[in-house]
Amino acid sequence: MLTPDHNALGLYFSIPFCRAKCTYCNFASGVYPASEHSRYVARLIHDLAAAPAWAQSMQVHLPRQVDTIYFGGGTPVLLAPELFTQIFAAIRDQFQLTPDAEITIECAPGQLPDDTLAAMVAAGVNRVSLGVQSFVDREATLSGRFHTRDIVLQDLRRLRAAGIPNLNIDLLAGLADQTLASWRESLAVLRDTGVPHASVYMLEIDEDSRLGRELIEGGIRYSAGLVPNDDTIAQMYEEAVTSLAASGLAQYEISNFAQPGMESRHNLRYWQRRPYLGLGLDASSMFYAEDKMVLRATTTDDLPEFLDPAETAHETSWLGPTQQLEEAWFLGLRRNAGVSIRALITEFGPDAVAPSIAVAHRLAADGLLSTAKNFVRLTDRGRLISNDVFAEFLGLAPAHHTAQSK
Ligand code: SF4
Repeated sequence: MLTPDHNALGLYFSIPFCRAKCTYCNFASGVYPASEHSRYVARLIHDLAAAPAWAQSMQVHLPRQVDTIYFGGGTPVLLAPELFTQIFAAIRDQFQLTPDAEITIECAPGQLPDDTLAAMVAAGVNRVSLGVQSFVDREATLSGRFHTRDIVLQDLRRLRAAGIPNLNIDLLAGLADQTLASWRESLAVLRDTGVPHASVYMLEIDEDSRLGRELIEGGIRYSAGLVPNDDTIAQMYEEAVTSLAASGLAQYEISNFAQPGMESRHNLRYWQRRPYLGLGLDASSMFYAEDKMVLRATTTDDLPEFLDPAETAHETSWLGPTQQLEEAWFLGLRRNAGVSIRALITEFGPDAVAPSIAVAHRLAADGLLSTAKNFVRLTDRGRLISNDVFAEFLGLAPAHHTAQSK
């Protein structure tokens, strides 16, 4: 792990519009009339133009060179083609795109019109992430998805024909009606597609999704009674790791798998602590200041507030060296490459790093981490309870300073 590269920026655009709300979804997304789309994009473009002055006011470095862009959501491809064209014109106006910039758009299968695809390609989009979740049609339908397996396969053919071979497929373990047999079927279809990247998530049960609330309350709506148990979901995840590796998609992060060289460069920047500017609802940003403090900022998750020119507060946190060290551990450990002790010592100094190395050795003795040749990594067991492992590296510092700013 090298000292984070601060000289190139990633841009993240949150597009929170969806055709319908999936039962398991806990993102800040919703179903809004198309009339809101152009107002929303106008706000994105305004914030993009205002970013340099805002960064200056916060005394943080905003690189003008951009090497990754990511449109997430929500369902970004619901935007009309001309709105994409406007956003990309604004990006090129304000920033300098590197020639090999990775530009990703998330896409819901079956919801990509031809003219939107053409606009994306013309704008330079070179990577698409498809939110498939399951190749078993009944599971997709029970989750509120509109696609079938055939529709996904057709979209893959269209994207490749349009010159976008850099494709990701998301799968979700823990859907209603999912069994080990049906999960294996989804994995087999994914492998057969030959996509160079896959993401595998486990169902998150929390108050933020309809299905999560129903499970917490012990109800049966949204087919909650058909959700597999925790042990089965963990087994699904473990089988995915093995099965994808056997087909050339090696795990490089807890939820991510890729052919060599096809890792998501945008997502890597989060775990490598490289700077990014997030625009739109509930979007996060991260910048470095001259004094090596780190600024983290998040926009509101309330759409009317975001669209109101008089509002749009950011919640900001300043991270000093100790909090940055904590992040270096729990973000770095997400990657299979692990955390380099030598790089930590170079960045933070031996005295600052020593207590966390002691934590790492204790967790290694418990079988949750491995230590070899200067690198610390999660073991397979540690990966299954990674949040508990990461929590061991927190609390080494006073509370973060939090403030509101415009
Ligand atoms: S899972 Fe994706 S497509 Fe479904 S509601 Fe959430 S953001 Fe929209």
